[in-house]
Amino acid sequence: MAQVSLQNVKKIFPGDVVAVDSVSFGVESKEFMVLVGPSGCGKSTILRLIAGLETASEGNIYIGDRRVNSIPPKDRDIAMVFQNYALYPHMTVYGNMAFGLKLKKYPPEEINSRVKEAAAILGLERLLNRKPKELSGGQRQRVAVGRAIVRKPKVFLFDEPLSNLDAKLRVTMRTELHRLHIRLQCTMIYVTHDQTEAMTLGDRIVVIKDGIIQQVDTPTNVYNKPVNKFVASFIGAPPMNFLEGRIVSKAGRLYFDEGNFRIKIVEDMYDALADHVNVRVMMGVRSEDIYDKLFVSEAPPENIVTVTCEVVEHLGSEVYIHMSTGKHIFIARVSGDADPQINQDIDMVFDMSKIHFFDKATETTII
Ligand code: ATP
Repeated sequence: MAQVSLQNVKKIFPGDVVAVDSVSFGVESKEFMVLVGPSGCGKSTILRLIAGLETASEGNIYIGDRRVNSIPPKDRDIAMVFQNYALYPHMTVYGNMAFGLKLKKYPPEEINSRVKEAAAILGLERLLNRKPKELSGGQRQRVAVGRAIVRKPKVFLFDEPLSNLDAKLRVTMRTELHRLHIRLQCTMIYVTHDQTEAMTLGDRIVVIKDGIIQQVDTPTNVYNKPVNKFVASFIGAPPMNFLEGRIVSKAGRLYFDEGNFRIKIVEDMYDALADHVNVRVMMGVRSEDIYDKLFVSEAPPENIVTVTCEVVEHLGSEVYIHMSTGKHIFIARVSGDADPQINQDIDMVFDMSKIHFFDKATETTII
């Protein structure tokens, strides 16, 4: 059985706010599971339900093989790290880390050895006598993690723990958390609205929208095989480009007709698209799957689209080109050597083997 498992969990807040709707997923032992979705999608509520800080309106929550719905938070064998760290300002780092163990009446030697061990893991040894206000944001964040580690819980819960840090520190702390997971070999459930954090940290990702799970999968699968347009657009930066058009058939071949251009579809996709011929669909293409023709040695003419360059963003190793077909604006991420000029017409090559198609009405993936 999964270490943590939710079965048809629903949370309705007063005023009929359905924050979490029939959510089911399992987190395996030692797995790093990330819950990701836009603001208000219900991810924090799911974490708080696992922690016992909210009560489920329906469904079952298991930690290990124990149904914990009516077990108080302190008896669930979890430790939670909050966004604001929630450190006690009048206590030292040592005091903050030891506090939970003292409450549980652990022997002083045991408390001391656990705090010292956690401080060593997190590089906090020389800060143990400081108060939180004498620490940097990153150090405070480490203390909050330390306070969780000393409890040696079955499951760690993180609620947007990096969101108060500046962009650079967030990246550093993200790597630290990754290392910590490898070192501690424990089950972690992590909430974020940041898809990069989800992709880099998660063994698997739960993508949530409006309280409903969209997809539970590995980062690679969520990126390459999104189940619908929402997941395709939420995961990946810059987001996937979407172009609306019609699938047309001509002389036994299928094309995507955008109105201003027509592009040949690879034969491998014909079967999946059979029911969508002469139907309007959304074509999805990631920015890295569109190339500047100048840098492609052999491009089949039917894969080339002439577009107008509107905005160019130089990022050093790569260039983002915002371009227009006349109907749609989309972004290509090309090599840093490219030097497109604004308002210039350029030929772009679409890698049609990497294209996605979505049903226009339901927004589910066709292929
Ligand atoms: P964020 O990233 O902004 O923290 P979230 O995805 O974590 O968002 P939740 O905090 O879980 O979202 O909230 C989900 C929904 O439930 C939102 O519509 C929110 O307004 C609502 N909600 C959360 N807590 C309560 C509450 N105590 N009473 C009423 N509605 C609530």
